[in-house]
Amino acid sequence: MRKSDYQNIWVYIEHDGKSAAPVGLELCCELRKLCGKTGDRLYAVILGRLPGEEIEKVRECGVDGIIQVSGTGYEAFNIDAWTNAFTVLSRKYKPSAIFVGGTIDGRDFAPRFAVRLDTGCTSDAMELDYDPETGDIQFIEPAVGGKIMAVITVPVMRPQIGTIRPGTFQYAPTGRKAEIEYIEEKIDFDPAAIRCRRVGFIPDESDPELDIANADCIVCVGNGLKDSEHLERYRRLAGLLGGKIGCTRPLCDRGILPSKLQIGQSGVMVKPKLYLSFGVSGAVNHTAGVDADLFIAVDKNPDAQIFSYCDYGIVGDMDEVCDELIARLSARKE
Ligand SMILES: Cc1cc2nc3c(=O)[nH]c(=O)nc-3n(C[C@H](O)[C@H](O)[C@H](O)COP(=O)(O)OP(=O)(O)OC[C@H]3O[C@@H](n4cnc5c(N)ncnc54)[C@H](O)[C@@H]3O)c2cc1C
Repeated sequence: MRKSDYQNIWVYIEHDGKSAAPVGLELCCELRKLCGKTGDRLYAVILGRLPGEEIEKVRECGVDGIIQVSGTGYEAFNIDAWTNAFTVLSRKYKPSAIFVGGTIDGRDFAPRFAVRLDTGCTSDAMELDYDPETGDIQFIEPAVGGKIMAVITVPVMRPQIGTIRPGTFQYAPTGRKAEIEYIEEKIDFDPAAIRCRRVGFIPDESDPELDIANADCIVCVGNGLKDSEHLERYRRLAGLLGGKIGCTRPLCDRGILPSKLQIGQSGVMVKPKLYLSFGVSGAVNHTAGVDADLFIAVDKNPDAQIFSYCDYGIVGDMDEVCDELIARLSARKE
């Protein structure tokens, strides 16, 4: 296998038939930048039907081409047709890299077609770079409990495959190219060969309090919290600020808050205007998920790692500081 035979970067555009999931657009925006370093062209890959106005959104992200796949087997996501389509397409066009959103579906089929192609698949990178000496993409992510940033490459095989969690990269479209290449591929997959069957669809219980990815203000509670009885004051503070509660992983492990509120590398990525953390030590696995305009941290340990990350730090007891903030905010509202 010669690496130089493989060119161009692909992004899978996940969609539900009506609209494109944000992660595919985020990836196109980020990989547009990486293509500037690698010299590759950027292609979006769409399986099944997506309305024209949504395809225009993909174009706005500066792609050089769109590969549109039609045929039988794409009515609803299924791992068999998706794995087959990417295997067939990759063998035909030899892309250098393929990026897939780290969603439930993406994490399901990307490693499978990687195995079929005998290549490597990296998950949850937080940064992407390029080594011109080797021609390899560098997938960078926290490792060993956040103590180091690991640089992962696929040094021998192609394509280099990566799943990236939603919210990792910013949706910042650079604008459409005047001319792009359209490739239409018909890849029929026998519906009888689809091994999983869709028996129905039950939407996730949509408690808006659990949807923190787009919150403008987050009060994040860490392992410094003594017990669930102490949580109420943080809910109150979040309410006064018009924000939402989030947490670090230990609070989910302790069963105090649901995992949907976990912020970080293996949780939700957040981009609030204001982020207030209480009793959070500042492990990179957590802070990697926070991109706040203003980050204020409260911790009793003056040497806590969080203080080298935040904009403003308060050394003190988390409950006392929270109560003081509540008192001052309440006084201002009276
Ligand atoms: C692969 C992997 C993925 C991970 N993904 C995530 C992730 O997505 N999100 C995540 O959060 N973690 C994640 N972790 C775990 C992460 O490494 C840390 O263990 C975790 O973030 C620590 O949470 P914490 O800061 O709340 O707890 P701790 O590290 O225990 O820190 C508690 C802090 O509270 C302070 N404190 C205690 N009492 C008080 C008080 N009364 N007043 C003020 N301060 C007080 C302490 O000084 C300390 O700084 C991951 C780990 C691995 C290995």
